[in-house]
Amino acid sequence: MARRLREQLPAGSPAIVAGQIVRPSVTRPQAPEDVLAGTIGAAIVAVRRTGKHILIDLTSNHVLEIHLRMTGNLFVIPDVRFRNAATRAWFEFANGAGLVFEDPRALGKMHLREAGYKPALGPEPEDMPFEQFVELVRKAPRTPAKLFLMDQARIAGLGNIYAAEALFAAKLSPGKPLAEASVRKLRALHQAMADVLREAKSSAYRGYTDPGHFGEGENYPAAVYDREGEPCVRNCGRRIQRIRQGGRSTYYCPACQR
Ligand SMILES: [Zn+2]
Repeated sequence: MARRLREQLPAGSPAIVAGQIVRPSVTRPQAPEDVLAGTIGAAIVAVRRTGKHILIDLTSNHVLEIHLRMTGNLFVIPDVRFRNAATRAWFEFANGAGLVFEDPRALGKMHLREAGYKPALGPEPEDMPFEQFVELVRKAPRTPAKLFLMDQARIAGLGNIYAAEALFAAKLSPGKPLAEASVRKLRALHQAMADVLREAKSSAYRGYTDPGHFGEGENYPAAVYDREGEPCVRNCGRRIQRIRQGGRSTYYCPACQR
C-alpha cells in the first residue's frame, strides 16, 4: 500500500492546493476543517505504513494518518476531477492530480497528527521473535486466543479475518487462552501469523493494482473466514462454525482447532 502510493505520487512533490472531506465521519472526532487546514498548502515528504495505518508526512509538520479498515483504498489519480462516487476524502496537487480516499463502506478513518506521531501498536508478527511472542502470551493467561491476536497494542496487523485464519492454520481454538497451548502449537501460530500477513499483503497488492475497488480480505483465500456451515477444508468431516467474540464473528473448525 505505502509502496504503491509512493510510486504513484506526482514527481517533484507538488503542494496540495485543495481538498475536501466528503464524509465528515471519516475524520471524527476531528473536524474536517482542521484536517484540511493542516494539509492544504503542504507537500508530501514521505509515505509510511505502520501496522494497518498509512502515515503521510507533510511539510506542514503534520502527519496524515489513514486507517483503511475493511474497504478503504488510497491512491493517486492523474486528474482529481475524475474521482468516483465512493470517494470519502480527496486532495488536489498543484499539477491537478488527486490523492483519493475511496471507501465504499465508509469504515476507514483519516486523522491529522503532529510530526513524529506513532500509533500505539505492538510489533508486527514478522518483526517479533518467538521468545517475545511467548512473553506476550504469558502476560495474558486468561485472554481468549482470538481476542489476544486482534489486540493491536500487543501485535499489529491481525484483523478479524487474519486472526481467524492464523488460528485455523495453527489448529488452535479461538476461545481458549494461548497460555494453555503447547509450545509446538505456539510455534505454529507464530509462523502462521507472519505467513497470513505476507499472503494478505501480496493478495492486497494484487488487488490494489486493479482499477476499480479493493477491499482488505476480498482477495484473500480464506479457509474459515465467512465459511459458516461449509465443510472444513482439512476434510475432518466437520463444518465451520461461527461464534461471537468481542462483538465480532469468529469462524473456526470445532474438530481441528483445540
Ligand atoms: Zn476441521
